[in-house]
Amino acid sequence: MMQLFMPLNFLGFVYREIRVALVNIEKMFDLLVREPLVVDAPNAGPLISADAEISFENVAFQYAANRQILKEISFTIKPRQMVAVVGSSGAGKSTIVKLLLRFYDPTSGKITIGNQNLTEIAQQSLRAQIGIVPQDTVLFNDSILENVRYGNPEASDEDVLLAIQMAHLDEFIKTLPEGTSTLVGERGLKLSGGEKQRVAIARALLKRPPIMIFDEATSSLDSKSERAILSAIEEIASHYTSLVIAHRLSTVINADKIIVLDAGLVVESGSHEELLARQGLYAELWQAQQKNQIANDSNREIDTET
Ligand code: ADP
Ligand code: MG
Repeated sequence: MMQLFMPLNFLGFVYREIRVALVNIEKMFDLLVREPLVVDAPNAGPLISADAEISFENVAFQYAANRQILKEISFTIKPRQMVAVVGSSGAGKSTIVKLLLRFYDPTSGKITIGNQNLTEIAQQSLRAQIGIVPQDTVLFNDSILENVRYGNPEASDEDVLLAIQMAHLDEFIKTLPEGTSTLVGERGLKLSGGEKQRVAIARALLKRPPIMIFDEATSSLDSKSERAILSAIEEIASHYTSLVIAHRLSTVINADKIIVLDAGLVVESGSHEELLARQGLYAELWQAQQKNQIANDSNREIDTET
């Protein structure tokens, strides 16, 4: 009898592992349906250590011939550091995220985690170690509680409720007719951009993987809600190796290092203070955004109902 049970148990274990990985990356990021599949190398192994330096070394990338998106990108993220990538819309920030998740391989150069090239790592193992708060969050036809639990299917109700609180979703949930049981998604309640981002942040808070990516995770929030959520993000980021992508520079002033992307190149990098002192592109963007802040805020509050 034991011999019969063992493989069943083992299969259950494998199933759960795979389910967690799939739910967190493929389903949440909603990329598999749209992006081509990179195939694992025959000798691909697991990610040896996720608590290690991430390095982009002379990375170039293009989706199609004749249009290079990244020309030569080099930067490192030390374990537990928070590194930000900023740049105008279309600069290639989300492309960097897709390369780190290995939805594509660089056309030249390499990406490593602890000296292990991404091309040698099984994708399932890589993605199981990375959590992402994406630009567009995918919601399922289920209750808001279950939508948050997708971040970690094993999480208890208590943990889910705590994550909801930390992501500042609880105020919104109090206004719903059936609270956390309210159905959301295609056939349920439609959430605003800001509310969806809070769901994504709560999911990430539940998963707590060693590597975290925030891709414009607060872009749909007005700056008052943003500040509240930023403290949650910074709290998570301080425990994990994190890559924060932002268009709005106020999001990243506390990053250990800020990489400024322009025309496929890293044009500047350093802390917020260092970059301001350089009086280059970052300082220019910062001054322009400071001026627009008040005007944007009053517009945003009307747009996003947050
Ligand atoms: P950012 O996140 O900085 O706004 P992206 O990395 O999303 O920029 O995009 C960089 C450039 O690559 C854009 O010009 C965009 O149109 C192009 N791009 C993004 N995804 C694809 C794709 N799947 N196929 C072709 N071009 C793409
Ligand atoms: Mg983007």
